[in-house]
Amino acid sequence: MADQGSFGDSVSLAASFEERSKEQLIDTVAMACRVLGKSNMTKEPSGHVSCRSSDSGFVVRGRGRDEVGLSFTSSEQIVECDFSGNSQSALGLAAPIEVFIHSSIYRARSDVRSVVHVHPANLVALTICDIPLEPIYGAYDPTSARLAAKGIPTFRSSCLIGTDELGDELAEVLDDASAVLLRGHGLVTVGNTVEEATVNAVRVSQLADMTFKVKLLGGGSTISDGEISELLSPAVRSGDSRSYQSVWRYLCNSSGETLPRFPSKVITSE
Ligand SMILES: [Zn+2]
Repeated sequence: MADQGSFGDSVSLAASFEERSKEQLIDTVAMACRVLGKSNMTKEPSGHVSCRSSDSGFVVRGRGRDEVGLSFTSSEQIVECDFSGNSQSALGLAAPIEVFIHSSIYRARSDVRSVVHVHPANLVALTICDIPLEPIYGAYDPTSARLAAKGIPTFRSSCLIGTDELGDELAEVLDDASAVLLRGHGLVTVGNTVEEATVNAVRVSQLADMTFKVKLLGGGSTISDGEISELLSPAVRSGDSRSYQSVWRYLCNSSGETLPRFPSKVITSE
């Protein structure tokens, strides 16, 4: 498995991991949960977002009997975990049963700083029908088309990722990609920041929605090899950072969120 992933050429969306306090990271994780929930990216209260918060662990949305659901996640509902998946509880909540999605990926991928797990309905339907996500469009959304052109793998088991072993198997299937589909289950995306992992989840889900429609219409083909080469060219990829930032701001604003203020040198970097 690759130790280093695909973020070597990515530019951070906001303040870098090192520049943000743990409190800021927790606030951003909670905001990403609300944004994903309000974007209909999951089913009922499920789904979770995490972020590396230190050299020894990460923070993740807590779950439990008293949880209120992804859309209503507050910073107080975020719990701390170590890389074995052991968590401290907060407000009666603990790490999700599927915490091993997060802990295994962080152990396997030193470049990953955030992990998202959600259950978009159309995407799950496609996995059940063994319909892969492919680059079926270009300029409509170069980011998700590029992820598809690089390859979005599928984890074949539909069971809960409730053990270290299953988490390691999932991380192995993800390899150095930015997204992995879970057959009959959902989606996992990763990123260099919480914002990047979140936007990747929304974008892959939108690609699934378009694929779903195209298949219902009875057709569809991938874009040409030449268009894929163009899509993967460094000149086109350089627009990713600007795209991630604008999509994140759009998602936050349309979800009624107030964007936090990070160091000015980052805000003015676009
Ligand atoms: Zn799940």
